[in-house]
Amino acid sequence: MDYFDYIIVGAGSSGAVVASRIVEKKKYSVLLIEAGDINNHPWLNIPIGVGKILTNPKFVWNYNTEPEPELFGRSIYWPRGKVLGGSSSINGMVYVRGAPHRYDQWRDGNNPGWGFEELLPYFKKLEDRPESDNKDRGKGGPIGVSSGNYQDKLSSSFYQACVDTGAEPNDDYNIKFEGVGWLQYSVKNGIRSSTSSYIKSIRKYKNFQIEIKSEVEKIIFDGNKAIGVLYKSNNILKKVTANAEVILAAGPINSPKILELSGIGDANLLKSFGIKPKHNLPGVGENLTDHLQTRITYETNLKVTVNDILNNKFRGALSLLRYIFKRDGLMSIASATVQSIMKSDPSLTHPDLKVQLMLISGQNRYARNKKIGLDSFPGFSVGVFPIYPSSRGSTHIKSKKTSDSPVIKAGYLSDEKDRNLTVKGLRLVRKIMSQSSISKYIVREVRPGQNIQDDRELLNYARQNGQTSWHAISTCRMGKNKMDVVNHNLEVYGTQNLRVIDSSIMPNMPTSNTNVPSIVIGEKGADLILARAEK
Ligand SMILES: Cc1cc2nc3c(=O)[nH]c(=O)nc-3n(C[C@H](O)[C@H](O)[C@H](O)COP(=O)(O)OP(=O)(O)OC[C@H]3O[C@@H](n4cnc5c(N)ncnc54)[C@H](O)[C@@H]3O)c2cc1C
Repeated sequence: MDYFDYIIVGAGSSGAVVASRIVEKKKYSVLLIEAGDINNHPWLNIPIGVGKILTNPKFVWNYNTEPEPELFGRSIYWPRGKVLGGSSSINGMVYVRGAPHRYDQWRDGNNPGWGFEELLPYFKKLEDRPESDNKDRGKGGPIGVSSGNYQDKLSSSFYQACVDTGAEPNDDYNIKFEGVGWLQYSVKNGIRSSTSSYIKSIRKYKNFQIEIKSEVEKIIFDGNKAIGVLYKSNNILKKVTANAEVILAAGPINSPKILELSGIGDANLLKSFGIKPKHNLPGVGENLTDHLQTRITYETNLKVTVNDILNNKFRGALSLLRYIFKRDGLMSIASATVQSIMKSDPSLTHPDLKVQLMLISGQNRYARNKKIGLDSFPGFSVGVFPIYPSSRGSTHIKSKKTSDSPVIKAGYLSDEKDRNLTVKGLRLVRKIMSQSSISKYIVREVRPGQNIQDDRELLNYARQNGQTSWHAISTCRMGKNKMDVVNHNLEVYGTQNLRVIDSSIMPNMPTSNTNVPSIVIGEKGADLILARAEK
C-alpha cells in the first residue's frame, strides 16, 4: 500500500487548487486522484467547443435528475466535468465572483472567516486580470480573465435596452455586483482558463503524484479517523494511505456519494441499502440548490449569432480565421455576451434576478446543429433566473453499488417564491426586449411566442422549458445546524482527518455563477489545511 501525507479526491475547480497549494510548500506529499482524463482535446480549450463536449461521456458524468414534479415530470440532463480541471474544463467560462452581502451572511451564520472581506485576498490571488488597475482585482494568478472577446451590435443594443429598463451601467460587476455589464470570461488569449493550470504548475514537483482515470469508491477509516481511500484504476482496486488527511473535492454529486458509500450520512437511508452507518449525518446529500434558467428566444435581422456561423460554412470559416489570427470573435466565447443583475422590485436592497444574452437559439441549449434543433435563422436567447433560489433538492445513493449513478432530485420551483420570481423574470425580459434600442433588431419572439401572456401560461412555459444552469451546490453544507455536514474549517462532523473542499460546502447560493467561488473554496481550504499542519 502507498503512503502520502494528503490524498485529494477530484481535480476540479476546488480540488486542483487544494492540491497545488499544498504541493508548492514542498513539505508534504500529495496524491491527487481524478476519475477523468487529461484535458488536451481542442474542444475543451477553444471556448465555442463547449457545445461539442457537454454531451460527450468521455468528458462528462452524464447524470439526469429524477422526473421533476414541478416541471411536468421532466427529467433534466445534468452533465458535470470528468476531466482534469473538472467542471471548470467544460463550463461556460462566465466569470463572476458574486454578491459580497451573501458571503457576509455565510460568516454571520456561524462560519467565521467566510465573509467577503476575508475571502477577497483569495479572489485576487486566483485571477489574472491585466486590464484592471482596481486595487480589488488580481494580476498574475492562475486563472486568466478577459472581457470584450466579442462585441457586436445586437449585444450593445441589449446592453442599452437593459439601461433603458432601469439597470445601472457597470464596467466591472466583479467589483459591484449589480447592473448591466459585458461579461468577463475565464479565457486567456482565446483559450479556456481552467483550474488544470494549477496542476500544470506543480507537475514536476517530486512531492506530487496524480492518478487519472481512477475513481475513488470509499474512504478507509480507523475508528472515526480517515486513513486512506479505496479506488479503482484500470479495473484494479487499490488502497492508498493518508498520514495527515483525506480531502473530498469530487463536486456536489460525488462528494456526498462517496461519504454515503463510506457510512457517513443519514443512518436510516444507509441501513436501507445494507451499509453500516459510521456516523449519522442526515445533511449529507440534502439542501441541493441550483439555478433553473428559462430562456425566451428571438429571431433577429442581424447576422451576428452563433447560429449564423454554424449554419453557414462561409461565415463559419470567417469566424475561424478571425479566431486563429486575432483570438477573438464568436469562437472565443461559449455564446453569452452581456448580463444584467437586476431587481424584481425597486424597493429591494439587493438585486434578485440575473438576465443574460446568449447569441444562439434552438429547441434547447444542447442544440448546436440543425439536425438536433438549432434554429435555421439568425437567433438568440435571453435567459433569466432567480439568483438566490429558495427551492431545495437532494442527491443520494441508489444502492451500495459504486457504479450506480445517484438519485438526483433538483426540486426546481418547489418553493412558491421561485415560481413567482421566475414569472416576474420572464416579464422583465419582455420589458427589456420591448425597448426601442433593441426592438428594431427583432423579427419575432420565437419561444414562447406572444400568444403566451398570463402568469399561469408563463409559469407553464418555465415548467416545460426551464433548464439547469449547472450550478448545483450545498450538498455537504457548511454550518453548525443539524443538517450541516462540515464546520467552518470544512471538517466533516463526527470524523477526524476528513474534509470536504468543493462547491458542495456552500451554505447557500452566493452568486449567479459558481465557478469562481468554488476556486476560492479551494484556495481557502488549502490555507486551512496548511494552518493545521504548521501549528
Ligand atoms: C456545463 C457547465 C457549465 C457551467 N458554466 C459555468 C459558468 O459559465 N460560470 C460559472 O461560474 N460556473 C459555471 N458552472 C459551474 C461551475 O463550473 C461549478 O460550480 C464548479 O466547477 C464546481 O466545482 P467543484 O470543484 O465543486 O466540482 P468539479 O469542478 O465538478 O470537480 C469535481 C471533480 O471530481 C472528480 N471526481 C468525481 N468523483 C470522483 C471519484 N469518485 N474519484 C475521483 N474523482 C472524482 C470529477 O471528475 C471532477 O474532476 C458550470 C458547470 C457546468 C457543469
